[in-house]
Amino acid sequence: MFSSRLFRPAQQLSSHVRRYANAPPSSGSNNTLLYGGLGAVAIGGGAYYAFSRSPQTASTPKAGEHGAQNESSAHGQPASKNEEKNIPAKTGGDIAPLKCFKGGDQGFVSLVLDKVEDVSGNTKRFRFKLDDEDAVSGLPVASALITKYKGPEMEKPVIRPYTPISDEDAKGYLDFVVKKYPGGPMSTHMHDMTVGQSLDFKGPIPKYKWEANKHEHVALIAGGTGITPMWQVARQIFKNPEDKTKVTLIFGNQKEEDILLKKEWADLEQQYPQRFRAFYVLEHPPENWQSGKGYITKDLLKTVLPGPKDANVKVFVCGPPGMYKAIAGAKKSPAEQGELTGQLAELGYTSEQVYKF
Ligand SMILES: Cc1cc2nc3c(=O)[nH]c(=O)nc-3n(C[C@H](O)[C@H](O)[C@H](O)COP(=O)(O)OP(=O)(O)OC[C@H]3O[C@@H](n4cnc5c(N)ncnc54)[C@H](O)[C@@H]3O)c2cc1C
Repeated sequence: MFSSRLFRPAQQLSSHVRRYANAPPSSGSNNTLLYGGLGAVAIGGGAYYAFSRSPQTASTPKAGEHGAQNESSAHGQPASKNEEKNIPAKTGGDIAPLKCFKGGDQGFVSLVLDKVEDVSGNTKRFRFKLDDEDAVSGLPVASALITKYKGPEMEKPVIRPYTPISDEDAKGYLDFVVKKYPGGPMSTHMHDMTVGQSLDFKGPIPKYKWEANKHEHVALIAGGTGITPMWQVARQIFKNPEDKTKVTLIFGNQKEEDILLKKEWADLEQQYPQRFRAFYVLEHPPENWQSGKGYITKDLLKTVLPGPKDANVKVFVCGPPGMYKAIAGAKKSPAEQGELTGQLAELGYTSEQVYKF
């Protein structure tokens, strides 16, 4: 059970957190470091959201498939009892679906952009079609893909990791949410893409291998698009009826409109009130904002998370470099966790209890 202190309203807490939302990236934007990290295959994450259904979409999931459940749920009409319980539908038979991404020496796979949707002023959702509409991505939880793009004026291609947010069982497509950074070559390119164009992807890039009930309680501390691997982990937990893990999300953003997957998090809170809680912290909150204001603070972490000795707790952190630094210490490289410092270390968590995506 969550302890009662977990439910103290976040807005009552003092908020004197260090700034991180606008901190510049360090190693994450460096191809050399990225390549180095990829040798050891370690990056990743992912999540889910639903596009509105369209008859011309070749990858539209069939009734009974997990993707189909999610879409109907987005329209407020559960497709089945299983969907109401967030349990994935059986795909039928003993034949494992084909995997689009196989790793190893597979190389880059070119995927066609099928749909684009605005999420906020600087964030879009992208759906890419898999070549085989019956194939799944092949990404384990939690993992990512890398993208590659070389513009006409570029000397070298730019390579960046992204975390799909579509379900691992979804057939025929992959979904991403991507924030555009001014002057950022990959995010700008993706935001400029139009339906029918292709982008190169490679992976999977495995990160933390989730196993049901491995931990009693997981804390997800995310900033901005750092939420994508958190969604992958949370969805994996709650779609498995055998997995009893409790989950606490602390999600920092600049503005309310930046809160990604808000409906999905709210649905989880409603369905699993004893096992899931979300705390939002906004740098620029609207006038009547009832949740956290400013930045994620040590006080907030102390109040809403189980203590380091309270339970078999695992803390996942993902966000901009400044957030890592303030909360858990910088990553040494994409493949190396680096020392645990910052607020979590000050609160007594050990490096074994913390994983930086
Ligand atoms: C494992 C992993 C998974 C990721 N998954 C996603 C995802 O699902 N969705 C997504 O949108 N992004 C994700 N990212 C970030 C993504 O890989 C790129 O770093 C980002 O899109 C910027 O790339 P760019 O080439 O456009 O800009 P860059 O050239 O990398 O950066 C351009 C400028 O933008 C600013 N900037 C870039 N990144 C940040 C940042 N994180 N915080 C603050 N300012 C920044 C800086 O001012 C920088 O100088 C992920 C990163 C990692 C490591």
